[in-house]
Amino acid sequence: MYGLPKKKEHVLEITFLGTGTSHGVPPLDCMMGAAAEFCRKGVCRKSETDPKHRRTRTSILLQKGGKVLIADVSMDFRQQALRHRVKNIDAILLTHGHIDHFGGLPDIRSYTEEKTLDVYGSAETLDIASRAFRYMFDPRDLRYGDSPPRLRAVELCGAREIEGFAVTPVPVVHGYLKECRGFRIDDTGYVPDVKYMSPESEELLHGLDCLILNCLRDAREHSTHMLLDKSMELARRLAPKKCYFIHMTHDIDYETDGKLLDSWMEFSYDGLVISV
Ligand SMILES: [Zn+2]
Ligand SMILES: [Zn+2]
Ligand SMILES: [Zn+2]
Repeated sequence: MYGLPKKKEHVLEITFLGTGTSHGVPPLDCMMGAAAEFCRKGVCRKSETDPKHRRTRTSILLQKGGKVLIADVSMDFRQQALRHRVKNIDAILLTHGHIDHFGGLPDIRSYTEEKTLDVYGSAETLDIASRAFRYMFDPRDLRYGDSPPRLRAVELCGAREIEGFAVTPVPVVHGYLKECRGFRIDDTGYVPDVKYMSPESEELLHGLDCLILNCLRDAREHSTHMLLDKSMELARRLAPKKCYFIHMTHDIDYETDGKLLDSWMEFSYDGLVISV
């Protein structure tokens, strides 16, 4: 897609399984009648007829050379997997221990009939996920059924190769978590939840073909997420060839707010598939 054509086995295909914030879009609040003042731009009403306004919880799927990585497993994973007919997963990356990023793990069991799947993340993330879903990480615990998913928690301490992908964890600040991560995967950056990133972390995300970055909304400061202006500033500093914003609330209208973006930036949407 960018620059000289790559050999087929080196092309990274990315599917945006979900692009919404933890509430999803439309959030239940809007459906419960508070929409008039709550839904500033009427995105939820528009979502009834335009699927690009509907956002399931954030996750991406990466494919290269026949291998499949999934970064984050949202609570909407089941419907995302059905929509895209995801037939195989070779490894899982988790950015952090918030439920919108690992709440779909129980549905991974369909992919572990034949094998144990490695789940990579920081020690903190793996601790939170394995406490929440202990039976999936401990094959001896059969109290919840006799066919639990078979998952192996693997701490990701630094850059390493995973199933043919070069993966580098990128520490970011996101609320009270101490070990929230973004990832550099080959020359793609994936940072779904971030308030602040140190200069050292920014350094890990230079020279990207593609940056996939948190942009929560355009107004009302949030304690743990970047808003549109800060996301655009960070994207400009990192200067990737292309930037897709994700993890958005109903306060982002891709049509009207899209006019504010630089030519190489875009609001992503559920189901978008790109080749890098
Ligand atoms: Zn999140
Ligand atoms: Zn709304
Ligand atoms: Zn989060």
